[in-house]
Amino acid sequence: MTDVIHRTAAEIAAQVADGTVTATEVTEAHLARIEAVDEKVHAFLHVDREGALEQARAVDARRAAGEKLGPLAGVPLALKDIFTTEGVPTTCGSKILEGWIPPYDATVTRRLKEAGVVILGKTNMDEFAMGSSTETSAYGPTGNPWDLTRIPGGSGGGSAAAIASYQAPLAIGTDTGGSIRQPAAVTGTVGVKPTYGGVSRYGMIAFSSSLDQGGPCARTVLDAALLHEAIAGHDPLDSTSIDAPVPAVVEAARNGSVAGLRVGVVKEFRGEGYQAGVMARFDESVELLRELGAEVVEVSCPSFDKALAAYYLIAPSECSSNLARFDAMRYGLRVGDTGGRSAEEVTTLTRGAGFGDEVKRRIMLGTYALSSGYYDAYYGSAQKVRTLISRDFERAFGDVDVLISPTTPTTAFAIGERVDDPMAMYLADLCTIPTNLAGNAAMSLPCGLADEDGLPVGLQIIAPAMADERLYRVGAAVEAAFRARWGHPLLEEAPAL
Ligand code: GLN
Repeated sequence: MTDVIHRTAAEIAAQVADGTVTATEVTEAHLARIEAVDEKVHAFLHVDREGALEQARAVDARRAAGEKLGPLAGVPLALKDIFTTEGVPTTCGSKILEGWIPPYDATVTRRLKEAGVVILGKTNMDEFAMGSSTETSAYGPTGNPWDLTRIPGGSGGGSAAAIASYQAPLAIGTDTGGSIRQPAAVTGTVGVKPTYGGVSRYGMIAFSSSLDQGGPCARTVLDAALLHEAIAGHDPLDSTSIDAPVPAVVEAARNGSVAGLRVGVVKEFRGEGYQAGVMARFDESVELLRELGAEVVEVSCPSFDKALAAYYLIAPSECSSNLARFDAMRYGLRVGDTGGRSAEEVTTLTRGAGFGDEVKRRIMLGTYALSSGYYDAYYGSAQKVRTLISRDFERAFGDVDVLISPTTPTTAFAIGERVDDPMAMYLADLCTIPTNLAGNAAMSLPCGLADEDGLPVGLQIIAPAMADERLYRVGAAVEAAFRARWGHPLLEEAPAL
């Protein structure tokens, strides 16, 4: 039974459907794996053992009753702790939500349950998804399964680490500036940021609402596509949700090909700060795409060098407003409510105790940037840069079908290395942020190990808005070619835990 944890989600679903294995057995195997390794990895903040087994038994009962099961029925999943789960703790990595039990499911949670996906538990993350290393979590860091002294990326480090350590075949992340793709890159897994509005934000705790996007994390491109299809689609409960058919991502993942495709290499994504081993693997990927029949050209996106600066005005501005709801009255923690203090004093004490340093830094930055007299200079200017970035993408996609770049400038850094240096931390998302600002779609998938440290490198593929299927078509072709070259999935090279 142990080997069930190494199977893909597609394989598990097929075996549950044909009766080779039960959903309960699959769930028990993954719970045993969590029991065995998560003390070291710390991917989960909460394991919902009973809830998971109950969901699994329900799938087995439906099968026994002769019901036709969906394409992910009986497959276990690790859910980022930013999504509300009815009756199951949801902290968003923050002390301020400690002890909060949501009274409702996020749309993503609900769709997963309806698909018969078994939710194993909630994964660790940077507090309110602010970070690139999972170190700002109020509950301690997560280790990278490739080297437990290194960061697993962030903010969705728990989700990426869970799948990279075979604690779950699937996970859900959210990507505001890179938090699905960057963890995927540094853990040797696949992560996709769908087109903005492609997956409902209802019940996904808001960080920066105009940038936040939930999406799939998996070990294969096909598994990511199956998960993407399960959670995507219009939701009347989210006013920014796209009311259009979901791109045909599963079909694309089953028909990987780049023949005749025009691929643009973003010229701006190289140079100082990019690790040699990352660029070597990226250049090999470019060669591979050529061999597979793509036409590769260089593309310039001159405004991308302002993306980070614009992001660090827009995201904090929106977060300063979104996080105002944590006022000690409605959710979670309340400090100093011992009588005699005003509501304002209790709110101040609670926010002071409940938020960590990075969250406070951003609330202050955002409040400042939005204050009258500074609005035009900061927030207004950042919005203009955002328009320039969208135009760069539009121009590029007038000429090419997809863009490619390294996902991150470096491989996984050491836990503690950048935690006191916010600027160094922010650079981890240099290549991922433009996509969030423009609202289009992108994927990270493994493209090898860096020579200098033997750690995974991610290849980023970027597609126009609503053309998410291109990511999967290209991703599946690249994945198949790399696997043929390596003889196995990259993750098999990770040391045993
Ligand atoms: N690292 C970026 C930040 O801290 C992006 C985080 C995210 O995508 N949630 O804002």
